[in-house]
Amino acid sequence: MERDGRADLKSMTLPELTEYLKDLGEKPFRARQLYQWMHVKLAASVDEMTNLSREMREMLKEKAFYASLNPVDVRISQIDGTRKYLFELEDGNVIESVLMRYKHGNSVCISSQVGCRMGCRFCASTLDGLERNLRPSEMLEQIYRIQRDTGERVSNVVVMGSGEPMDNYDNLLRFIHLLTDENGLHISQRNVTVSTCGIVPRIRQFAEENLQVTLALSLHAPNDEVRKTLMPVANSFALKDVLDACHYYFEKTGRRLTFEYSLVKGVNDNLDEARALAELLKGQHGHVNLIPVNPIKERDFKQSDRKSIEEFKQYLEKRGINVTVRREMGRDIDGACGQLRKSYIEKERT
Ligand code: SF4
Repeated sequence: MERDGRADLKSMTLPELTEYLKDLGEKPFRARQLYQWMHVKLAASVDEMTNLSREMREMLKEKAFYASLNPVDVRISQIDGTRKYLFELEDGNVIESVLMRYKHGNSVCISSQVGCRMGCRFCASTLDGLERNLRPSEMLEQIYRIQRDTGERVSNVVVMGSGEPMDNYDNLLRFIHLLTDENGLHISQRNVTVSTCGIVPRIRQFAEENLQVTLALSLHAPNDEVRKTLMPVANSFALKDVLDACHYYFEKTGRRLTFEYSLVKGVNDNLDEARALAELLKGQHGHVNLIPVNPIKERDFKQSDRKSIEEFKQYLEKRGINVTVRREMGRDIDGACGQLRKSYIEKERT
């Protein structure tokens, strides 16, 4: 993989790196050393790689691209230790990543694109459209940088921040392979979740990749009519086809799905919708994750009240559906996904 005509080192597999260094006259063990510095020791720069000769380091700095992120803002929750990072990329764009601390380990939510073109009505990430795709190295580096920063191992990764991962498909796949590679950070595929708004051909393609990652579908409505008011992608793919593709994913991988459902007051949170949702998910293998929607100032969506959330949950449970309500992490540093970036950009522009 290249960036501006230079090899993007951190996006290369070990065999690719070996080949690349061979062309530069270096022995295969050098590739293993370099790979280890990048993906195990999580070196912040080529200069840290002290067992490589000075000449080799200089050559890499000159000829290759070494992805690294610059944290321009870090907010730490006083309630639960959640950290929200705003990272600057080499080209000056900024992205958000979040570290959440759970009993079962640390989880990092990463962005897959700068902005997003999917236009979901409840999401701040899409307000300025899509800027560009993130490279595999830039996706990895969000996790590496956070692990370096905290000194704590990251055990779970969710690709659920800004961007539609399936809209950056090839880079997503490469990222997953590098992240879960036994020669690298070696996060278990089962501890990786990819969230999609429902791009049917990509879900089907993803099912064929022989992976064990969890797929989360942003469902948010029990029928096409309501879904179209929240998610423009619903104009391209009917719910029936989306759910057929999800079922296919389960059949191919054996992985149960997560159905994300943001509750918006008065839009999709009454018991008629709960009934329709229970009907819709009949025969699906997975669980529903109810998300009390985060209000964003640009849109007038309001969060459902506790009572409606509880009733909605109980209704589904009575119909045999597994339901969780997403715990609000980092409430005191919150703002919806994409808002930290948005307020930063607005501040920079003034
Ligand atoms: S919810 Fe996801 S897919 Fe929808 S606009 Fe936001 S980032 Fe894009």
